Amino acid sequence: MSGLAAIGEDLPTFVTHLECSLTAERYPADTLQTLSKAGRPLLVRYDLDGIRRALPRRALAGRPQSLWRYRELLPVRRAQNVVSLGEVMTPLIPLPRIAARLATGGEILVKDEGRLPTGSFKARGLAVAVSMARELGVDTMAMPTNGNAGAAMAAYCSRSGIKAYVFCPDDTPAVNVREIAMQGAEVFLVDGLIDDCGKLVGEGERVAGWFNCSTLREPYRIEGKKTMGIELAEQLGWELPDVIFYPTGGGTGIIGMWKAFAELAAIGWIGPKRPRMVVVQATGCAPIVRAWQEGAEHAPRWENARTVAAGIRVPQAIGDFLILRAVRESGGFATAVSDDAIAEAWSEVAAEEGVLLCPEGAATYAAYKQALADGRIRREDRAVLFNCASGLKYPMPDAGTPLQLGNAVDWRGLVKDRRPTARR
Ligand SMILES: *Cc1c(COP(=O)(O)O)cnc(C)c1O
Repeated sequence: MSGLAAIGEDLPTFVTHLECSLTAERYPADTLQTLSKAGRPLLVRYDLDGIRRALPRRALAGRPQSLWRYRELLPVRRAQNVVSLGEVMTPLIPLPRIAARLATGGEILVKDEGRLPTGSFKARGLAVAVSMARELGVDTMAMPTNGNAGAAMAAYCSRSGIKAYVFCPDDTPAVNVREIAMQGAEVFLVDGLIDDCGKLVGEGERVAGWFNCSTLREPYRIEGKKTMGIELAEQLGWELPDVIFYPTGGGTGIIGMWKAFAELAAIGWIGPKRPRMVVVQATGCAPIVRAWQEGAEHAPRWENARTVAAGIRVPQAIGDFLILRAVRESGGFATAVSDDAIAEAWSEVAAEEGVLLCPEGAATYAAYKQALADGRIRREDRAVLFNCASGLKYPMPDAGTPLQLGNAVDWRGLVKDRRPTARR
């Protein structure tokens, strides 16, 4: 229960109720909930006036460097239910060389979420969701995943003594499948995509009574994910950036951040400025981009979805209208990049700046370059790219020149120009 000893038994929570994201119908908090009667995600609502009165920004000083520092804006009511593996605040890493080359007068910042437990930002959502599951007496949880969410759920469930069942597409990177198993969950490899896995979890929910922790089917993962937005605001001195590039799968992060910004404004911690929210998808799986281009409110299933960026290979998102709303309300846009562009962006940032992104994070940089080239963003913008997992979790291109001991080394051929930028 790291860092929470100082908080005491009862957390000062301000949750008033849950609300259907489509119809605004109210539901009670403090009982187990899934989707609304309308089949849509439920959002957690708070007494924001109460928070505004109780909590000046300066109260954060001296609190743990963790997402739990924002506990008044989170739903967990009792400290003993908090399940923690050390949810650090993640750094904002500038890309100064690339910015000097591409964005004179502007700034490119990578929010590196790979530093979190289990190596991805799925830890934020699952830390809060599993804490709430414990608070509400859940003993078994299940979810479909492309890897990172399942790993985070497995870890937090083991930590809290909850049994976990995880269903992945059978081409999920082996490292993800194995970390899920190592962290104590039952893991199944399904010959389909994440939404096919979701159907199996739905059946398990009916047959075996599992609690279904699929993206946006329970109300609390989004609350954990929204801490990315609060943390970003705090790190930038409560002045949000001009534009945020977000690799979008199920969309919890973008929906959560947009919710966070509204809540921060309501409690008086930020002014009216909002970033433009940019959805980044892969050209092989771009349902939100297509819907945005067509001006549609919902995004039908993308058939034959394929991309190397597994975290954003989500053919259909139940929160599609909430993602699209955040993009439109913010004056942002939705854009797709090819797997080739992702691969190029991946090695470019790693070699030039020493920052090993994940492929989904690389997609945001590819999209940034594209948007700069076609004038959709300005060079002087302060842009934040979300890197949502550690690059170390992904299979990388083959490398390494063999050297045989006993043969003379060809030093002339071996020694390269040491400055990485000189290669371009
Ligand atoms: C899950 C995931 C995403 C997509 O996040 P959502 O908030 O669900 O849209 C992006 N990148 C990585 C690495 C992920 O694991």
